[in-house]
Amino acid sequence: MAYKFVDNYRERGARKKLVEHLKSRGITDSNVLNAIGKIPRHFFFDETFWNQAYKDIAFPIGDGQTISQPYTVAYQTELLHIKKGDKVLEIGTGSGYQTCVLMELGADVYTIERQENIYNHTIKVLPGMGYNANFFFGDGSMGIAAHAPYNKIIVTAGAPFVPEVLLKQLKIGGILVIPVGNEQSQTMVTVIRISETEYEKIELDQFRFVPLVGDQAW
Ligand code: SAM
Repeated sequence: MAYKFVDNYRERGARKKLVEHLKSRGITDSNVLNAIGKIPRHFFFDETFWNQAYKDIAFPIGDGQTISQPYTVAYQTELLHIKKGDKVLEIGTGSGYQTCVLMELGADVYTIERQENIYNHTIKVLPGMGYNANFFFGDGSMGIAAHAPYNKIIVTAGAPFVPEVLLKQLKIGGILVIPVGNEQSQTMVTVIRISETEYEKIELDQFRFVPLVGDQAW
């Protein structure tokens, strides 16, 4: 299905500048940068706000939620080390922009959103752009046991702790990327599943996300 918006030289130029900006902030994975250089981020905005689409900022998408800042999307994606065919669980579909980045890298994405209006919007927009993810509605803080295990799990909202249930849904060798902290600030945490019972946890930079709300969350 052809999408209603156009992607012209203005947007393509702004996108190239965004990629250069992300490189200057330390993003080095060329696959991640290529994905960001390809996806028309303005398609996720109302036309009135297209001039905001290639700024390195988070932006409201309604219902108190945001499309994540491009730097944050690039940073989390880089940490996942996506390989073609990886089965990835994304918790917090939101606008679906992060979903598209994962799919451009060849991931098979299972994505879950708890806000009905956002879910109903995104399940129309993404397939319209050619991104046919596996969409789910509900509380992702419990993961999606029915489709586990996953090679990678990404949480795109701020959690108060690392939910044990998500660790159990990782394959051995799998990676979880999750921001953990209070409502003001969260540390980006990476957990690698080493074996059936062992995990390696790495704490990285500070970010500010909207809260992860649910059973194993706020
Ligand atoms: N990655 C998204 C993007 O690129 O637009 C940004 C997501 S936004 C920062 C976080 C999303 O997580 C919101 O849409 C919010 O409704 C959702 N969310 C919060 N708690 C959730 C939960 N327990 N399960 C699923 N989604 C949740």
